[in-house]
Parts: sequence; structure tokens; C-alpha cells
Amino acid sequence: IIDEKFQVVKKSGIIEMVQLKEEFSDIGGLSNLKNWLEKKATIFQNIKKAQEYGVDLPKGVLIVGMPGCGKSLTAKAAAQLFNVPLLRLDMGRLLGQYVGESEANMRKAIKLTEAISPCVLWIDEVEKAFAGINGLGGGGEVSTRLFGNFLTWMQEKTSPTFVIATANDIINLPPELLRKGRFDEIFFVDFPNEKERETIFQIHLKRRRQQDLHNINIQTLVSKTKGYSGADIEGVVIEGIENAFCNKASSVKTQDLEEVIKKTRSLSEVLKDRID
Ligand code: ATP
Repeated sequence: IIDEKFQVVKKSGIIEMVQLKEEFSDIGGLSNLKNWLEKKATIFQNIKKAQEYGVDLPKGVLIVGMPGCGKSLTAKAAAQLFNVPLLRLDMGRLLGQYVGESEANMRKAIKLTEAISPCVLWIDEVEKAFAGINGLGGGGEVSTRLFGNFLTWMQEKTSPTFVIATANDIINLPPELLRKGRFDEIFFVDFPNEKERETIFQIHLKRRRQQDLHNINIQTLVSKTKGYSGADIEGVVIEGIENAFCNKASSVKTQDLEEVIKKTRSLSEVLKDRID
């Protein structure tokens, strides 16, 4: 069935079906968000029973936060947990050149999502689609109509379609989107704290065949990576392992990783420099 659905989605050109490899155990930190999604997954997998019991149909979640802090990773792992296909709505492709084309594409995307459901619909960089609403700059009238169609659907949908919208910046989102009743919940993801950085280092080292972590002083790495995003940490691990291999070391050591950290500019440093 997944294969047939995949072909239908592929033909549409607006929505893509994302391959699922990521699991919740691949995500370091974000425990509130993960716990909340686990609850929704239980409901989603037993929708009929849950509704008979009086539980509302899960609508979706808005995840806002820094780039590289696990929003996309969470969307993929959530679909895996829900055990349904993940459809990614490409806003760039949705916005058409001709009058009415964008709205028609949105209707087509919604129809397709409903046909594929149960599924998770992931709207990445949702702020881009709705730029131009309430003087936020950009697309104007088209955005307003698109936005209207989308909100109506979110409010009224009765199909088992769980929407995960991700955005980098809440300032660029229209207030209507943030109102209660649209999404079940809004989560903010921030740079990982010490405990979370420790887990993220472990996840990425283990994923790259470094099973024996006794040689690596993770606490030292954690103390030197304040303000690093999950993606920054992954970058340190990738380069550290690469350097150790090229230096013909038997395995990666703390020092290999520290050297990469020394010359890495974390995302928070880049952002701070921009503000200063
Ligand atoms: P963007 O806003 O730029 O799309 P994002 O928040 O969606 O960023 P991801 O794409 O999820 O970020 O993160 C990029 C990669 O960084 C992930 O595929 C993963 O390998 C790593 N990563 C980020 N956050 C975490 C985390 N909390 N735990 C483990 N790995 C992480």
C-alpha cells in the first residue's frame, strides 16, 4: 500500500514522501516534545477507540526554534513512531506563477494528504508560505488566501492527518496560526543544555561506529560546546572521526574532537556576531 501511495504522491510534484530512518532514540533532549508526541502516537494508532472514549482527534503541532536543533529530525522520527507515511509539503513548489495557481495547488495538496491519510503532513519553514500576512512582508493577497484555506482545513479536518509545521522564527508567523485550536500545541526548541549535549555526542559517536566511548571524555567536550546546536555537534563528530582516520589513529580520541571544536564557530556565535 505504501508503494502505491508513494507513486501517487510522486506524481503530484507538490508533496514528497520522505524516507523514514530516524527514530526517537536518535534525538538527544527535547524530552517534553518527545513525551507529548508519544502520547499523540498512542491516540493516533487507536483513533477509533480513542474517539469513542471521548478523546479529540490530534490535529498537529507547531515546532519553532533555532536551525539545526532537531525540528526536522523530530518530524521524521514522529512519523516513524506514528507508523504512517510522512508527506513533506514544499512551499516553494506550491506557490505558482499564475493567478489562482497557488490556491489550486494548496487544495490539491490537501486533497492528496486526505487521500493518503493516515499520515503526517510536514510543512517545513511554514513562515515562508505565509509571509505577507498582516504586514509581515512578501506575498500579500496570495498568502492571505492560501493561509485562509489552510486554517479552515486545520480547523475542520476530520481525517487522521497529523500536521507538523516547523519554523525558525515565531516573529514571522501570523498570530492566527498561533491561536489555540489551530495546533494542539506549540513547542520551542532551543540550543541543547549540558545533559542534552552529552546525549547528542553519544548518539552521533555511536552512529559512526564509535561503540567504545571510554577513550572519549564527553564531559570535556560538553563543557566546550555551550551554544552549539545538535547539527554543530554532529559536524564536530564527523570531522573529528575523519581527522582521526586520516591520521591513521586506531580510533577517535577526545583531542581529535577538541581540535575541531577549537576552530568551529557555533551557530550561537554566528548569530551573536550578527546582532553585535
Ligand atoms: P532547520 O531549521 O535548519 O531545518 P532543524 O531544527 O530542522 O533545522 P535538523 O534538520 O533536525 O534541524 O538537524 C540537522 C541534523 O543535526 C539532524 O539530522 C541531526 O543529525 C542533528 N541534530 C540536530 N538536533 C539534534 C538532536 N537534538 N539530537 C540529535 N541530533 C540532532
